Amino acid sequence: IKILDARFITTAVEPKGYPTSLAPEVAFVGRSNVGKSSMINALTGRKKLVRVSNTPGRTRALNFFDVDVEREGKRHLVRFADLPGYGFAKVSKAERAEWQTMITTYLEKRRDLKVVVSIIDAEVGPTSDDFQTLDYLQEAKRPILVVATKIDRLPKARRKPRLNDLAEQLSLPKEAVLAFSATDKLGLDEVWNALLNTVK
Ligand code: GDP
Repeated sequence: IKILDARFITTAVEPKGYPTSLAPEVAFVGRSNVGKSSMINALTGRKKLVRVSNTPGRTRALNFFDVDVEREGKRHLVRFADLPGYGFAKVSKAERAEWQTMITTYLEKRRDLKVVVSIIDAEVGPTSDDFQTLDYLQEAKRPILVVATKIDRLPKARRKPRLNDLAEQLSLPKEAVLAFSATDKLGLDEVWNALLNTVK
């Protein structure tokens, strides 16, 4: 897998602001602070495409990026949609409702959307918010790829067993949960291969 280029396209809160259809889209969802920005940066080979923050709950809109990627000599254009993180405690009810509308509208309406990457913290495991999101995605009949990030925080011997536990907790087959680390650059090819296999 070789990243040829990655660029920011636009920010949107409503369908009229979404970019015009051009390429298959991959959406990234996860609890705020799970490591979503770091994952997108790692997958695009860009340190600062998405701002990594130590203050969770800051992203309040959908951000779109175009990525040119090459696999086995073939070029692909994939669009990434970075969805605002959920589960941040310090937001008001009104803000939470706004967030919900923004996300569900996108997930229900977006035709280009081919797969949703649901990011789980490998160390923490799925939270109740994660379960809710996964249930929702399943109901919405959206293909899901679960990626367990921050795997570097677990000692090597505990990684495989943890992935198996996660799959079991989420009622998914073992192969459906991929390990990732933005810090140690683990799982990049695995995630890209899974994404390219589903968007093709
Ligand atoms: P976001 O809020 O989901 O976009 O999360 P960020 O990408 O901003 O990351 C939140 C925090 O987790 C930051 O302090 C990152 O440095 C850290 N982080 C992100 N990915 C990893 C990872 O793979 N391993 C470790 N150890 N820390 C990570």
